[in-house]
Amino acid sequence: MSPFEAVTHFFNRAADLIQLPDSTRSVLRRSYRELTVQVVLLKDNGDHDVLTGFRIQHNGARGPYKGGVRFHPDVDADQIRSLAALMTWKAAVVDVPFGGAKGGIQVDPRNLTVNELERMTRVYTNQISHFLGSHRDIPAPDVNTNAQVMAWMMDEYGKRHGYTPEIVTGKPIALGGSYGRDAATGRGTVIVMHEAAERMGLTPGECRVAIQGFGNVGGWAARVAHERGYKVIAVSDVEGGILNEDGLDIPKLLAHHTETGFVGGFPRAQPISNADLLALPVEVLLPAAMGRAIHCGNVDSLRCRIVVEGANNPITPEADEVLNRRGVLIVPDILANAGGVIVSYFEWTQNIQQFRWDEVDVNRRLTTRLVAAYDRVATFARLQNVSMREAAFAIAVQRVAETAHLRGYI
Ligand code: NAD
Repeated sequence: MSPFEAVTHFFNRAADLIQLPDSTRSVLRRSYRELTVQVVLLKDNGDHDVLTGFRIQHNGARGPYKGGVRFHPDVDADQIRSLAALMTWKAAVVDVPFGGAKGGIQVDPRNLTVNELERMTRVYTNQISHFLGSHRDIPAPDVNTNAQVMAWMMDEYGKRHGYTPEIVTGKPIALGGSYGRDAATGRGTVIVMHEAAERMGLTPGECRVAIQGFGNVGGWAARVAHERGYKVIAVSDVEGGILNEDGLDIPKLLAHHTETGFVGGFPRAQPISNADLLALPVEVLLPAAMGRAIHCGNVDSLRCRIVVEGANNPITPEADEVLNRRGVLIVPDILANAGGVIVSYFEWTQNIQQFRWDEVDVNRRLTTRLVAAYDRVATFARLQNVSMREAAFAIAVQRVAETAHLRGYI
């Protein structure tokens, strides 16, 4: 299945569960609007590269479209469409008043200078700017984009529309970003991991955790998990991983990563491959890199009890079935990595009010919302005897269907 077919598969399961009429299904399944743009990049040497960019708006029944921007060679229409749909269901399951969107450029940003990255971001922002708006569509960071990229997007948008900090979230604090936004997705994965582990009777000290991906989500997940007493024994990035069965010294590892850009070469740990990391005997596996990391080819090697989906779409539907049959608890992406969209909502709210909350307040509100959403999904799953993913999608689809009906879309 392609990424969008995979999300559609989970949507269809939820639609069956809540007996959604066919007419509603066909409206909610597809994107509302899809834009493909040419991004002409002027290189530092005077050459031009012609790149392809996307902004796809899946469903806006519950509020303005919201979703990240990804710079990666694998970006294509199907991938962005799938991520836009996931955003709709994610915002709905944690009950923030946003619809779903996603954007991206098919490019390897590792081959660009900082000046080229800035020029490319500005061209892309201009190309999609008539789709954006602080009550229409609000981008955020995703893979290979960060607070600096959001600052360029805000500035470029502001040239046409005036100062509009709420046009993007995940901005630098100095430009109106929210305290706690950078950490929010990773922190959220640890909040739901804690809920899952506690309900299995596991204390943090007895939980070994392996994390694939050490960027924004994986790095913060490792830091917060370590602070809360979990034993993070393995992490990886695109170049490979490291393992220390007694637990990695995460503060020292973060310093090593900041210095070198990679987790490899960290003293007091042995090198392992990404495949080895997935197969480690751990209580919790936390994929926080790219989609489809766990598939039919490697699912049989997994030896964890819980998977917390920090990444979007990290498990294919076929592998999902296998893990469900084996009784592995999967906390699905639309719940597990929703901390980012929750604090993005807080950032947007603060910008509109021209007011700033402190970090303790942001983290407290994040925890309250995520724990409530986890509880609702776990209760639905138990009462209906379905997986956490089926429950999360069912709750989300029901909420979006209700607003779509009320607004007269269907
Ligand atoms: P990032 O670019 O900051 O980090 C990505 C990490 O994954 C890097 O460490 C990179 O080296 C590693 N990686 C890339 N390809 C890999 C591979 N094939 N094998 C192993 N590691 C690999 O990205 P991020 O923002 O941390 O996003 C990670 C995932 O989380 C994505 O699926 C993204 O959609 C999802 N997500 C991010 C946010 C957010 O707020 N940033 C929110 C929700 C979901």
